[in-house]
Order: sequence, then C-alpha cells, then structure tokens
Amino acid sequence: MKAVVFNEHGDTGVLNYSDIERPEIAADEVLVKIEACALNHLDIFVRQGMPGIKIPFPHIGGSDMSGIVEEVGSVVTNVKPGDRILASPGFGCGTCQVCRSGNEYLCRKYYLLGYQVDGGYAEYAKIPARNALPIPDGLDFNEAAAVPLVFLTAWHMLVTRAKIQPGEIVLIHAAGSGVGSAGIQIAKLFGATVITTASSNDKLEKAKELGADHTINYLEEDFFKRSKEISKRKGVDIVFEHVGASTFEKSIMVLATNGRLVTCGATTGYDSKLDLRYLFAKHLTILGSYMANTSELMEVLKFFPTGQLKPVIDRKFPLKDAAEAQLYLTERRQFGKIILNP
Ligand SMILES: [Zn+2]
Repeated sequence: MKAVVFNEHGDTGVLNYSDIERPEIAADEVLVKIEACALNHLDIFVRQGMPGIKIPFPHIGGSDMSGIVEEVGSVVTNVKPGDRILASPGFGCGTCQVCRSGNEYLCRKYYLLGYQVDGGYAEYAKIPARNALPIPDGLDFNEAAAVPLVFLTAWHMLVTRAKIQPGEIVLIHAAGSGVGSAGIQIAKLFGATVITTASSNDKLEKAKELGADHTINYLEEDFFKRSKEISKRKGVDIVFEHVGASTFEKSIMVLATNGRLVTCGATTGYDSKLDLRYLFAKHLTILGSYMANTSELMEVLKFFPTGQLKPVIDRKFPLKDAAEAQLYLTERRQFGKIILNP
C-alpha cells in the first residue's frame, strides 16, 4: 500500500511517500481502507519530535481518519467489512482503574493513533475494533475525518472540564484552528455568548457564520482590552486556551470573578507567567485538558445529523502531498481542517 512514512524526526523533508506492507490485524482489531485523514498540529509535533518522547520508527502520522472496514479480527462483533466508520483516536489499556472508570485518556498506557502507533497517512490502517464508530448520517468521509480529535477535545474542555452554562461569556482563541472552530460551535450549542479571535477579517467572517457573537482581529486590536469592553468590564467566564505563551498571561487577566481557564495546548510555547494575585483574589480556576473518552465522542457525534454541529473543512490535498499540507497548517493559513485523500 501507499503511505507517508518517516524514519527520523525533522522538517517535512523526512516524509516519504512510499510503498509498504499492509498492516496485519490482531483478533480484536480492524483493518480500515482509508478514505480521508485530517491533519492536526500533533502531526507536526510528532514529525519534529518532542523532548523526552520516543515514537516507534518507521512511523505513519495522522490521528483522524475515516473509511471503510476492509477486514475484522476473529473476536470483533461491533463492525463488519463494508461498514463506513470513523476512528476514535485514543485508547487506554482497558484494564487499569482509570480505564475502568471510563477516563481512558488518563491511562498511563494511553495511545493516540498516529502518535504512539501508526496512523492514517496511508491507504490502510489498523485500529482497535472498539475505536471504530459508525459515521453519523449526512456526513461524507472528508467531513467524518474532520470531526474526532478537535470536537472531542473542545467538548471535553468546555462541557466536561469548564462546565459551561447558558448565558456565560466564552473567549475562544484562534477561530481558524480546528479546535477553535469546534469550540465556537459547542459554546453556542450551550447558549453561551462567544468572543473569538483570528489574524484576518476573512477568518473572522467565517467565525461569525459558525455563530461567534463578537470577533477580534488580534493583529489590529488587543484581545484583553476588547474582551473587557464587550463584557462591560466584568471579564469573561471561560477562556478556551490552546495558544500558550503568546496569550496565556492576558487570558488569565481577562477572566471574570469565578472564571475558568481551560487549556489543551500551547502551540506558541509553554513557558508563561502567572500573576498569582489574579488567581486567588478573583477565585479563578485553571483546568488542564487532554483528549476525552470515546463516550464523549459518541455524545458529540449526535449533534451532526441535526446540523447543530458542523465539520469545518478548509481544503483537501492528495496523500502524496502530505508535506505540502503540513506546511500549509504550520503557516496557519487555514480555517478549519485540512484533509488528505489516499
Ligand atoms: Zn488503562
């Protein structure tokens, strides 16, 4: 089969579009003929390498995939060949206490497709059968691949961690990112007022179409000052953080009393200052968030057939142009998800 494989960390030059053997499945796995694979910033971090984290080589990236079940292992009963599925991207060991409590993302052996194991930059991939979920009605393969990682992350951040309430004001950073475009929609689904930021007015127009109430071009306006004005000096109830060093300090300062900052990442760097006076005097809460369990993904998928949530796709590349697609993501030119098609 064709796949985009890399044997060492580095720039996009390490990505080789080559012929390799199809994966062999175990009794509890399924082989998926991939129709679409969506990119995430994680793909870039895995390619570049992260301090202290080893990945197996040769490696195939890609955490978000959709396709058709080609083959099932001997004990698999939940799907059959020919089924249209999308992959829930993460899985724990299944036997430890956190896995048994349903919080598999806290498992010490939590694996993500395309990270600790091979992913979807290929014509075929093997996944645990329990991670194969039916594609919701009305979604094509590209749309289905655009959903899992960003929507389950945004759902876990806003609903599970920050416990979003109707009428709250939520600041969503970077509307053009996959997780930002998902966060705007989920916050609106829960009846919040959404303020969002982006680097261009074109992206902000698209954010409005997704339901954002107030938009801030962060190159032209200070998001802290503008959010304070919009909230009539009160501040915002929730900040949806994934940007990191370049925004974190002001993200804390912009919170209202009893505000919550929830963060799932730090794409601009992880070194940042925290003024502790704000934290205690304003009764703030800082919440970390990493992935979610498959049941949360199943919950979020219910809102797609009704159109209450929509996958946001920027553009598609052929699988062989994966390097070009990753550069496009690195340059932050997109609004929503970038898709690879084998
Ligand atoms: Zn476990």
